[in-house]
Amino acid sequence: MNECPPPSPPPERILGLKVDVDTRRGMEEGVPALLSALAAFSCAATFFLSFGPDNSGKAVYRMVRSPRFLFKMIRTNAPGLYGVRTALYGTLLKAPMIARAFPDLCREIETQGHEVEFHAWDHRAWQDTLPRKGERWIREWLDRGIAAYEGCMGHPPRAFGAPAWLLTEAAVGVLAGYEWEYLSCTRAPSPFLLEGTGLVEVPSDLPCLEEAGGPKRVGRILAALSPGGIHVLPVHAEVEGGIWRDSFAEILEGAARMGYRVARLSEIAESLWKRELPERPFRTALLRGRAFPCAV
Ligand SMILES: [Zn+2]
Repeated sequence: MNECPPPSPPPERILGLKVDVDTRRGMEEGVPALLSALAAFSCAATFFLSFGPDNSGKAVYRMVRSPRFLFKMIRTNAPGLYGVRTALYGTLLKAPMIARAFPDLCREIETQGHEVEFHAWDHRAWQDTLPRKGERWIREWLDRGIAAYEGCMGHPPRAFGAPAWLLTEAAVGVLAGYEWEYLSCTRAPSPFLLEGTGLVEVPSDLPCLEEAGGPKRVGRILAALSPGGIHVLPVHAEVEGGIWRDSFAEILEGAARMGYRVARLSEIAESLWKRELPERPFRTALLRGRAFPCAV
């Protein structure tokens, strides 16, 4: 008689929450809102903070140059998500500091059991000018941001998440010279070793709510979770900690229902060291729902 093979164990279900804070409003209003949402679900997230000036208003100039960006701003209701003041920072209004202006709140994130990592000094400058910048500019940008991080947190960051998931060869070369436990700089289906750095890259594999199409498309994110596995959801403090906070709660509820355990990104990175990860270079591509290309 043929015996059935033993059933394979169910795939592990782990969800990482990568919360990016890109703007002053995201820090001031979005972070406290997310902290209460996460507390309600007893979930720990990894916050990637922008420390330096909020130059979001400079995006207005990009809008004029890029119809695709303008379309994205309108389709996703950017003024509702990010606020009118944010649209003027760095142009008509002086660029205010983001996380650096809130050292107590930075530490409070950690006190509540979450992780704080380094996302940016000047987010817009990276996003808009990185492809034209050499190693010196990149090193100065990182050093200013890391100094601000240490000033607020009292210890160095473990990880870097590139603004707008944008990398260049020069940036990868410079990043390799810093002490990171892992990077989270790309959009890709699964973790890998980033060629030229020897570092674990924990990519965001799920679409963010904005890319998925907004609150009516929470189902798309839940559908991507249904087969199980290790996933990282990109979250924006301005958005999921703002007018779309109910949808964020729906995602957390859905994930819990499917048996997901929410893990900090450092836990995910650490568990990966033990596995054979492929080494891969990044390449730049345009993803669905995004206005500009990013590292994949
Ligand atoms: Zn960002």
